[in-house]
Amino acid sequence: MKVIGLTGGIGSGKSTVVRMFGELGVHWVDADDVAREVVEPGTPALARITEHFGQDILQADGALDRAKLRDIVFREPAQREWLEGLLHPVIREELMRQLHPGDYRLPYVLLVSPLLLETDQHALVDQVLVVDVPVETQVERTMARDDNPRDQVERIIAAQMPRDKRLERADHVIDNNRPKDEVARQVRTLHEQLVQNPD
Ligand code: ADP
Repeated sequence: MKVIGLTGGIGSGKSTVVRMFGELGVHWVDADDVAREVVEPGTPALARITEHFGQDILQADGALDRAKLRDIVFREPAQREWLEGLLHPVIREELMRQLHPGDYRLPYVLLVSPLLLETDQHALVDQVLVVDVPVETQVERTMARDDNPRDQVERIIAAQMPRDKRLERADHVIDNNRPKDEVARQVRTLHEQLVQNPD
């Protein structure tokens, strides 16, 4: 079973493209979802976090106060290291578990991750699929989707890997600067290629 990492900058169309693969029966796992799942109430990881940072790190409903945690690790690198040391192996293990469903007939699965190439998650994948659009398209689509001002979107993009560097790492590229039906055709072609020759 091959694991193909699907990545791209914010608003490049990762969610849109992965849904197109999903319609063809391809199994996929979203790394952001898994990162949230492993700290849901009742998980061992959340218990460790509460031990370490105290009950104040929880919201009134018992869920992790992500904004507070982000604030702490932003200010204190040692705390960031502690947190990453705890979460990275847990996330990795859960990703591996979800990536290998029983009773699955296709030769590949997808791992969707915005930070695939920036984190050690790329070690989990055999090939890299980049969803690519020009930066201006990325800005416009993200502004429209999230109702965020341009400067905020541009700041997020500036903090991510530059487009050319990401493309250098790609084994496959989906050009998402096209109408969706055309993108769906690219997805189908790549799917057929991966099914016939996953190596
Ligand atoms: P990501 O998951 O990479 O952040 P999304 O899949 O959410 O990106 O796409 C960002 C926005 O752009 C969404 O509102 C989506 O509907 C829209 N979008 C994605 N692909 C296309 C396309 N080919 N044509 C027009 N709009 C698109």
